Amino acid sequence: MIDEKLPILIVPDARLRLKARPVGPADDDIVRALAPRMLATMYAAPGIGLAAPQVGSNLRLIVVDVAGKEEAPAPMVLINPEIIAATKEMALREEGCLSLPGQYADVERPERIKLRWLDLEGSRQEMEAEGLLGVCLQHEIDHLNGVLFVDHLSPLKRNMMLRKLAKELKKARDE
Ligand code: ZN
Repeated sequence: MIDEKLPILIVPDARLRLKARPVGPADDDIVRALAPRMLATMYAAPGIGLAAPQVGSNLRLIVVDVAGKEEAPAPMVLINPEIIAATKEMALREEGCLSLPGQYADVERPERIKLRWLDLEGSRQEMEAEGLLGVCLQHEIDHLNGVLFVDHLSPLKRNMMLRKLAKELKKARDE
């Protein structure tokens, strides 16, 4: 059996800090091959979202599925996603990230966003999102710009968390 999963890059991998480039027509085959593998990687982790830079690709491509354990899977593949509007009202929600294993913090983001993207058929899609889906989409789109959720925290909180992660990773390596 072919292992469809991809290795997930962990902080401080420099590739997580690059700005991804837009997907163009020439990338069609790559995206069609990559999207299902990203979904497999996300489900196996398990996670509710994954951005291409987290698996070493520099394309503006994300996958999300915020369906609960008891619900039917609802995978979404978003190509060149763009936030075109955001509310002034902010909401606080706890976030984690597959590239910062075991680290969680409350992050403040716009409560509701409107976004636009291309689906796998190349059709333009648009929707409004709030709650868990809204947060997840904002978090994944941040990844396409080299931004991590800890960047939304105070420098003190961010450094504490990054140091804690480095210590935990070192311990895991040494064991
Ligand atoms: Zn993340």
